[in-house]
Amino acid sequence: AAPESLTPPSGAWTPDERLRWQARFDAFKARGLRIDMTRGKPCTEQVALSDAMLDWPGVGGHRTQEGGDARNYYGSPLGLLEARTLFAPMLDAPPEQVAVANNSSLALMHDTLVYALLHGVPGGAAPWHGQGARFLCPVPGYDRHFAICEAYGIEMVPVPLTGHGPDMDAVEALVRDPRVKGMWCVPVYSNPTGETYAPEVVERLARMATGAPDFRIFWDNAYAVHHLTDVEESVPGILALCAQAGHADRPLVFGSTSKITFAGGGLGLLAASPANLAWYARHAGVRSIGPDKLNQLRHVRLLRDHAGLRAHMARHRAILGPKFALVEACLRRELAGRGLANWTTPRGGYFVSLQVRDGSARRVVALAQELGIALVPAGKAFPLGHDPRDSHLRLAPSFPGLQELEQAMEGICLSVLLATTEEVLP
Ligand code: PMP
Repeated sequence: AAPESLTPPSGAWTPDERLRWQARFDAFKARGLRIDMTRGKPCTEQVALSDAMLDWPGVGGHRTQEGGDARNYYGSPLGLLEARTLFAPMLDAPPEQVAVANNSSLALMHDTLVYALLHGVPGGAAPWHGQGARFLCPVPGYDRHFAICEAYGIEMVPVPLTGHGPDMDAVEALVRDPRVKGMWCVPVYSNPTGETYAPEVVERLARMATGAPDFRIFWDNAYAVHHLTDVEESVPGILALCAQAGHADRPLVFGSTSKITFAGGGLGLLAASPANLAWYARHAGVRSIGPDKLNQLRHVRLLRDHAGLRAHMARHRAILGPKFALVEACLRRELAGRGLANWTTPRGGYFVSLQVRDGSARRVVALAQELGIALVPAGKAFPLGHDPRDSHLRLAPSFPGLQELEQAMEGICLSVLLATTEEVLP
């Protein structure tokens, strides 16, 4: 179920306190700061961890493992074997079921959805287009998933997240509708709630009976290896679970190196059943002769294998961990115990979700803007940008430096304190 509304106990704040917050707010505003907390962008130090790739493959470095010439048209449209092998463990798939594509996993999701709309998918009788296709959207979720549905007229059906994945009673009831063709999932360190799906949730997703025989789970495991603590969260392999349940073609598993190497200059990844992968290769082969193999060689050289990938992610954690700890400390110092806000303390990923009193999220964003702090518009994490309770905010602490982040958090907390104690709240 969705989080309960916040109701501050009486005496949660005093008029005097509110005057002091207002004075701090005004002083903050006078500083004229400009801080961007909108998108989950790696910081400069993080992308620099992969700077060696800027020199690669280098003159003479174009040979693939099997002796091919990566400078030329050659090889499988599913990518180089060494790249497919490198990313297979991250996707919980055998290398033969992995495709390594170009610089954006979002593009892969977009393209697979468009292929499904235009051509249909294995196991389906017809293209999705014209069938009134619907998608289940766990909320709050990733705005760009929802933007794809919006662009192609797919009706979005919100399903609440519980802290351990989507409300499965609701999902199992909704997927009986044959118009429900798909579902978005970010199973590990979800964007933006930071939650990881419980094993039981994943098992139920694999087993559930769907009205549509050609139902697909768009399993966007973008944060599979993006841990922030020693507790490394993960989910059971959805491909294997679905295959065991007799639904091998149900999941399309996506991965991305945008937050491993270079954001927007990395590799998009797809893992799927043999039938789905052949389907993908057929349609992708019309769109392009093949992916950029030179970038795949760079990634193989930098990361080498799954152990190398994990070591690389530990260096990201060393940069990001203190930023998330700072966010937590600021929220606790300014907001704890008043019943005005709740927030997540994620063990990985890129976001903190901040819940404020119903009807005040947009006001928080507007007040923060007065302070020069850019937050993502309230409601962005919901289909069509509509948060029915106007209570969710997404904080993205990765890009600013620690000092700037501390300032931003003070400004955000002051905005929350003022917005949630205004008389006009419903
Ligand atoms: N999926 C999720 C859940 C994301 O948060 C993001 C943003 N990094 C993406 C996909 C986009 O990844 P890419 O750059 O590979 O398109």
